[in-house]
Amino acid sequence: MSFDLPVPVLLAIMRLNKRGHEAYAVGGCVRDLLRGVPPNDYDICVSCTPQETHAVFAGERVIDTGIQHGTVTVLLGGMALEITTFRADGEYLDGRHPASVRFTRSLREDLRRRDFTVNTMAYHPVTGIVDLYEGEKDLKKRLIRCVGDPEQRLTEDALRILRAVRFASQLNFDIDGDTARTMHRLRDRLHLVSRERIAAELIRATAESGAVPALGEFPDVVFAALPDFPPLAWISGLKALSHLPAGDATLRMAALLHDCGEPALQNTLDSLKQSRAFREEVLTLCRQARQPFAPDETAVMLAMLGEVQLRRLVRLQQAAGVLDEKESAQRLARIRAALAADLPLSLRDLPVNGKDLTAMGLAGEKVGDTLHTIHQMVLRGRLPCDRAAIIAWLTRQKK
Ligand code: ATP
Ligand code: MG
Repeated sequence: MSFDLPVPVLLAIMRLNKRGHEAYAVGGCVRDLLRGVPPNDYDICVSCTPQETHAVFAGERVIDTGIQHGTVTVLLGGMALEITTFRADGEYLDGRHPASVRFTRSLREDLRRRDFTVNTMAYHPVTGIVDLYEGEKDLKKRLIRCVGDPEQRLTEDALRILRAVRFASQLNFDIDGDTARTMHRLRDRLHLVSRERIAAELIRATAESGAVPALGEFPDVVFAALPDFPPLAWISGLKALSHLPAGDATLRMAALLHDCGEPALQNTLDSLKQSRAFREEVLTLCRQARQPFAPDETAVMLAMLGEVQLRRLVRLQQAAGVLDEKESAQRLARIRAALAADLPLSLRDLPVNGKDLTAMGLAGEKVGDTLHTIHQMVLRGRLPCDRAAIIAWLTRQKK
């Protein structure tokens, strides 16, 4: 079996080999090449120390991304290659971090400390695939299975419980029975793991195409990861998710959470510790999920939420069964029409501004309030978006 590695990956491996170091493409990229899917990124594992890697790539840009874990990033031919020294993790004392990281010259040891069999394969452009832990066999069976004893591996790093769900969702694979049972049993250990790591895997698990069966098998794991999630909101969340295409992490998370209600919704989103933008967007979608807007309000909603969010909202409302297909198509058509009409979606786009109103004798809060009223009227089609018409209307108001 041979694969066309990207040229920079090939060059990096050859340069390392020439200096006497072992080097392989490893992990997710080998798994994806074997599946016939283009890898997201290419990780390289090497027998040499990070200092030796630096020496090999002297003259290139080399960044110490995770030097304590043995990872350096080399910028080569337009690619950022993560090159990591073979590792054998020391004992895990706290359920999330190895107490020590030991570099090793043994590929076997490095592959053994990886999470799931399908992620343990290495590939060398000349010698081919190294598959020491039945990765290819499980790949054929479409199975996520711990490397070694699930009890030990999921205890060492509880995040792997959630990573198993994420990979099942991403790859549309099943989880091996023994691994699955152990995940259920050890789920409470997720509280040992940082919120950021939990969120990254959970958001991804939700966004990927196999989310419904993968999450659906592990509600208890999700509740352990999101302690504020009300179990009563679970079924409707999964159902909404099942009606949406994969990919949009914000929309998919909103679908899962849309029935949580306050304050569970806010607490759950806070606990994910994501960017303000992500939090606000999901929150807005969930709060509006059960309130279909009137088609006549489309431009107002567009001004309030923006195009991307309003399209998401329509999709979410359809997925949640609040709008039927016809109603949702009608609203999407209205969105297109409102955009084509070039309406003033922000106050700044109006043909009058605060100065005009002040010149007409308005002062204080009245200025902002009146601008807002004008904006709403224009968006609802009750006032033309025309300076003379607006001034005439204002003059009539003053009388
Ligand atoms: P993707 O293509 O989605 O990025 P990936 O397999 O590359 O999938 P990463 O999370 O990027 O997934 O991890 C890279 C590799 O590092 C994995 O394939 C696995 O071998 C190893 N790995 C990552 N996290 C862990 C962990 N918590 N425990 C053990 N091995 C891990
Ligand atoms: Mg990866």
